[in-house]
Amino acid sequence: MFDSYTETTLVLHEDRCINCRRCTEVCPHAVFAAGKETVTIARPADCMECGACQKNCPVQAVEVQSGVGCAWAMIGAALRGKDLDSGECSCGGDNNTCCGGGEK
Ligand code: SF4
Ligand code: SF4
Repeated sequence: MFDSYTETTLVLHEDRCINCRRCTEVCPHAVFAAGKETVTIARPADCMECGACQKNCPVQAVEVQSGVGCAWAMIGAALRGKDLDSGECSCGGDNNTCCGGGEK
């Protein structure tokens, strides 16, 4: 079963990658690492599914389902000026490790 706390929806299609390295520049968590022929996903667990890499890749070599999980729940709460509501995040982390854990 997919565990969105420890896994992400991030997929790199290396066969499409032209090694422009835009994804390494826009990713706020240094998930991608530069490579000789293509980039690689070096730190998949650090991906917060923000979607910046997918949006900036010129050849659709990156796919990610942005708008789900911890990051989206936290951004939504911040935009509304409220604390993270319980049940809003679907990441599946427990109360001590999830995005809202320990802050209530
Ligand atoms: S932005 Fe796309 S084409 Fe450019 S290095 Fe990253 S995955 Fe490859
Ligand atoms: S979705 Fe955001 S955090 Fe994840 S790899 Fe892409 S740019 Fe980095």
